[in-house]
Amino acid sequence: AKATTEAVVLYERHMSERIEREVVIAGRLQDALTTGEGLQLHAQPQVDLRSGRLTGAEILLRWHDELIGSISPGDFIPVAEERGLIAILDRFVIEQSFKQLALWREQALALPGPLSVNVSMPLFEQDDFVDWLQACMRRHQVDVSALELEITESGLMHNPAQALSVAERLRQCGIALAIDDFGTGYSSLAYLKQFAANKVKIDQSFIRNIDGDERSQTIVKATIHMVQELGMKVLAEGVEREQEATLLLSYGCGLGQGYLYSKPMPLDEFATRWLEH
Ligand code: C2E
Ligand code: CA
Ligand code: CA
Ligand code: CA
Repeated sequence: AKATTEAVVLYERHMSERIEREVVIAGRLQDALTTGEGLQLHAQPQVDLRSGRLTGAEILLRWHDELIGSISPGDFIPVAEERGLIAILDRFVIEQSFKQLALWREQALALPGPLSVNVSMPLFEQDDFVDWLQACMRRHQVDVSALELEITESGLMHNPAQALSVAERLRQCGIALAIDDFGTGYSSLAYLKQFAANKVKIDQSFIRNIDGDERSQTIVKATIHMVQELGMKVLAEGVEREQEATLLLSYGCGLGQGYLYSKPMPLDEFATRWLEH
């Protein structure tokens, strides 16, 4: 019984420390989102697997806090979700992305495809989201074709009907939508068929070491064919090795993203390395 009590005490201390840390992170993040200090957008290239040429890029947020240090999105995004900050964070990232697109346009730097931005369900479901997005684009004089929104498959399945209607509104505005982390969220074929997405991103867990994993090969091959039959583009995430790219190409998947091509990098570095005049 004593051991159990000790375990409970330890567990409770662990929980309260966890919550304390979360509260600290949330407070610091809230400040960062108002000043923009310590927050930096990175971009990761998306490429044509055959030629290695740029087709687009995904924006990924980085945060270095003066007190806490560097925190990865894997740690601060869940806190932002739990503490009601995620919609504010997403709006911040979207607006910064538009500013960057406007700047590149001024510098006559061309991105051959859309810039992809991650959007969480709480923002996606806000009544004024699509109107806000359009107003924001007009303010920065960004064309709808310059943007793609990524929404996770698991996010979509929280409220499938609502997600369908927002996706339809986005489609009418000409804003592209990609389903992120596909294969991890249990959507049905019937749902996918109705859903107005332009692109499906196959989750990296299926791509890692796919050349040595027959079950992943079967799943990925079938997914690629299904997605293309439904008239959508398909992109493989987390491509790290040449063997993975070769196999994906043989399955007819033409787009990829991953460390084999490039890690996410600060926007100025991305522009220098990847964008052309
Ligand atoms: P995600 O949207 O699935 O983004 C892909 C993640 O995989 C990124 O991690 C990226 O750096 C990493 N990655 C890319 N290629 C490879 C590879 O070849 N191998 C491996 N092992 N990893 C690779 P990151 O930047 O740490 O972001 C983690 C997650 O945090 C993202 O997953 C996304 O869900 C979320 N996130 C990041 N930035 C934002 C944002 O601005 N808004 C929202 N709502 N979520 C974001
Ligand atoms: Ca993503
Ligand atoms: Ca993903
Ligand atoms: Ca993910």
